[in-house]
Amino acid sequence: MIAPLPLRSFENEVRDFPAEARQRVAQVNLTFEQAQQLTDEHGSPLLVVSKSKLIDTYWAMKNSMPGVDLYYAAKANPDRHILSTLCAENAYVDVCSAGEMHAALVAGFTPDRMLHTHPCKTDSNLLECYEAGVRWFVYDNPIEAAKIARLTPDVNLLLRIATTGASSKINLSAKFGTPIEETLEMLAVAKSMNLNVRGFSFHVGSQCLNPEDYCGVLRNIRQVWEDARSAGYRLEVLDIGGGFPAPYRDDAPTIESFGGAIWTGLQETFGDLDIRLIAEPGRGLCTECVTLITKVIGKSTRWGMPWVYVDDGLYGSFSGKMFDHTDFPLFVQNDGSREVGPCVVAGPTCDSSDIVCRDQMLPEMELGDLILVPSMGAYAGASASPFNGLPVARSISFG
Ligand SMILES: *Cc1c(COP(=O)(O)O)cnc(C)c1O
Repeated sequence: MIAPLPLRSFENEVRDFPAEARQRVAQVNLTFEQAQQLTDEHGSPLLVVSKSKLIDTYWAMKNSMPGVDLYYAAKANPDRHILSTLCAENAYVDVCSAGEMHAALVAGFTPDRMLHTHPCKTDSNLLECYEAGVRWFVYDNPIEAAKIARLTPDVNLLLRIATTGASSKINLSAKFGTPIEETLEMLAVAKSMNLNVRGFSFHVGSQCLNPEDYCGVLRNIRQVWEDARSAGYRLEVLDIGGGFPAPYRDDAPTIESFGGAIWTGLQETFGDLDIRLIAEPGRGLCTECVTLITKVIGKSTRWGMPWVYVDDGLYGSFSGKMFDHTDFPLFVQNDGSREVGPCVVAGPTCDSSDIVCRDQMLPEMELGDLILVPSMGAYAGASASPFNGLPVARSISFG
């Protein structure tokens, strides 16, 4: 028998951050009865988007950082229900490709509410977004600056600066960002090409568990901001990126405590300046508004271990387990009468690596039983593929 996975201890990961602030637990947004009705109507697997949960999350984050404009990172989930709900709340949007831009346009966002944050764009990505009216872009190296100078010289630019992202689960500075020591050099490169750099951006890494990471970066960036000002550059935008965490099997800091700590850091480092502050939350905004409904489609016993096969897996909505290192909790219906034991939960493709979890405690499952999976909003459906001819889960809005 394989022992259940011990839950990873949060204690080792979150430094100097109060325990009472870490009380955000993954929760499903619908009952099993509702899930049954929805799958009877729409089929399974099904991604259910709760607009009210998304709106609550958006305003909790916005209120925790007053004065910071939120550019939703469409990369996390370009689902039309999510984009149109955020558009209706007057949010902004961060796009990285013409595809994300078109999804945002369809949802109602106008190009003046968009920021294009990809630091290494194809010519056609840059041109298509420019021609549609997007005017804010990001660069982090001289080759990209030259590309922008050649194709779209009159845009506004943010210079992306690399960070260390000490407590983040996913490092986003391993690939992009100018080393902070080279900031002035990179500003000079852009100036020599007559480009208009209006500010800095950074990303502490995704699923950041300690707001102190942001505060440390902010202190360093304030120093180079001063150096740049002394050198005659006029900067007016600071973009603190994404990274805001969400709960999975592990709980997460509350939005209020996390955003509040960042906001205090912003006041301490940039509070004396009259500049525009923006953030690009992806995961932190959209994770909790989506619940996956998946159905048991098969059972077997292999080497003494019960196996349960479900109709969504690693190539589908659980792709976040591969690409995003997330461990999604599973919820099943049990009135207490069914004994719980360890089992393997496997996805629907013919690939042996398509295992949702190896050591899940579940009651005996029957064909057709539903499993609800909360926190499926970010980097789950967005990276799903129709491998093996199995369509990706549909998404609907409910609640
Ligand atoms: C992925 C990404 C985001 C969103 O990150 P989250 O961790 O999901 O908040 C924001 N900005 C940029 C540039 C990104 O690449």
